[in-house]
Amino acid sequence: MIDTHCHLDLYPKPSEVIREAVKRGVYVIAVTTTPLAWEGNLRLVGEASRIRVAVGLHPELVAQRENEVELLCRLVPKSKYVGEVGMDGSPQNRPSLGAQREVLATVLNACRKAGGRVISLHSRLAVTPVLDEIERAGAIGKPILHWFSGTERELQRAVALGCWFSVGPAMLSTRKGRSLLAQMPLERLLTETDGPFGRLGEQSLHPWDVSQCMPELASAFRLSIQDVEALLRQNFRHLVTIP
Ligand code: MN
Repeated sequence: MIDTHCHLDLYPKPSEVIREAVKRGVYVIAVTTTPLAWEGNLRLVGEASRIRVAVGLHPELVAQRENEVELLCRLVPKSKYVGEVGMDGSPQNRPSLGAQREVLATVLNACRKAGGRVISLHSRLAVTPVLDEIERAGAIGKPILHWFSGTERELQRAVALGCWFSVGPAMLSTRKGRSLLAQMPLERLLTETDGPFGRLGEQSLHPWDVSQCMPELASAFRLSIQDVEALLRQNFRHLVTIP
């Protein structure tokens, strides 16, 4: 099981979630919302070799924390994983879209200069500007559009730009999510939970809950669940091989 986008540090009891993830053998990319949290997350994760920590600055925090982009760029060369970064065009975040775009351009440049990074990107209601910045930045490594919710045309453009996609139980509980899934390239597909924000019903998702979307993945691509799991493991191996 592989959760490529989870906010481990934001659960009420992160250590218990980490212990359980280790017990179940789940691979996790632990994204962060501010670069100030990166070192603390590394300590939290400790020796758990299947859990990787990403350094990020969440677009919804850019209005308050734009000045942290310098720290983020200093940490990018030290971290193979970058995220959560991106842009958010929801009404409450629209006023900071200009600053969000500058921060994204700056961090993507840092990723390119560092020789390429695995980057988990948020693009809610801002897919086109996020893709513009990915295209402009050049060889940034492996951009993953997490919980993609754009249009089919935007999806086709993202595929052409070489983007990866991480999908999860919450996204695939909607008809739109399932219809986008069917058009994603199988060899660039990953799973995620976005826990604890990602929820199904009343429950926050945990890393091992990626298993809940196996039936949707199997039926979308007409594969067995075992074949889907093997494919996801292979994709993850390719993902972590940089560039
Ligand atoms: Mn997230």
